[in-house]
Amino acid sequence: MVENNNKLVLIETGVPVEGYADSLVQSIADLGFKTEQIALAIVTHGHGDHAGNAHYLQETFDIPIVGSQYDLDKFSSGKTELAKSKDVSIWGTRLRPNMDMDYAAFTPDVLVGSAEVDLEKYGIDGKIIPLKGGHTPGGLMVLIGNQFFVGDAFIGTFRLDGANLVPDGHHARTHFYHENTTLADKWLEVIEKIATLNNVATIYPTHFGPVTTAELSTYIAVRPTLKDLTKLQESLFKAIEHGDSALANTFLSKNFNINTVSEQQFTKIDYVQKRIRNPKTKIETVTAEDFRIIKADNNMAIMTFLKNLKLTNKEPQSIKATAFYTKAKGNWHLVFEQDTP
Ligand SMILES: [Zn+2]
Repeated sequence: MVENNNKLVLIETGVPVEGYADSLVQSIADLGFKTEQIALAIVTHGHGDHAGNAHYLQETFDIPIVGSQYDLDKFSSGKTELAKSKDVSIWGTRLRPNMDMDYAAFTPDVLVGSAEVDLEKYGIDGKIIPLKGGHTPGGLMVLIGNQFFVGDAFIGTFRLDGANLVPDGHHARTHFYHENTTLADKWLEVIEKIATLNNVATIYPTHFGPVTTAELSTYIAVRPTLKDLTKLQESLFKAIEHGDSALANTFLSKNFNINTVSEQQFTKIDYVQKRIRNPKTKIETVTAEDFRIIKADNNMAIMTFLKNLKLTNKEPQSIKATAFYTKAKGNWHLVFEQDTP
């Protein structure tokens, strides 16, 4: 919720779960405001966790709802249509069963097309900036003063806290799902440009934000390296699982060294011999997630990730890995890995 010129703008309406609408109304009251002060509610796109209570707010308090005309199919059917989205990370696959939420269908009072909408006519110094395609067919962003709300164009970093995901470090990260990943990628640069032109220091994605504009720029800059190294690690893990020492060899630098959780240290020759070619304890499965670049230039990079390791006859382990890479002849190689529980 944003206050501007004594008026309130609500951005997003929350999830369609029992009790959420009441808690939303209660939080508005707790902040010392009345629902009548809300000039309009902007739903950034047609997913249930954003549009979930739009119908309720429209019917109960007569709050005008703004949405993109390109997500009208979702709004008027009350369907998130997650089947149309691709999983961008392992979290996409994990959260999918809970995220395909149906919600009370509604028709937005204001439909935004491809053009920006000045909010002056609602008494607010700000504008709505549409993003056509990417996360869903019709995304909306909201710029009020130097406060910039970008919906699900990207998210902040997060970690698991019990059963919940909570913000962790406020770095930029790609959302779990996009209907068009190529477009979603392209919009990051557009968002960065709008933020820079409008002196926006802090961007508010709907999930796990805020993220500074500087952090978004860093993310855009390291994204190609992040993609390359994520691919390298995933190929390496497949090679290890399949006992493919030749393939693993190509990913490991000749100076490779690993310090494992059990405080064992392996050189490249050791590692290939003992962990891949003739393992006493077979690595049944190894996967990783939450890949983050800590530092990178053209020739070196440091990346962290969470490794899920299952050895034969052992309990699965979750391991924090910090890995150091170098680039030679256009290819990245893993030089060093430090594992901690
Ligand atoms: Zn979404």
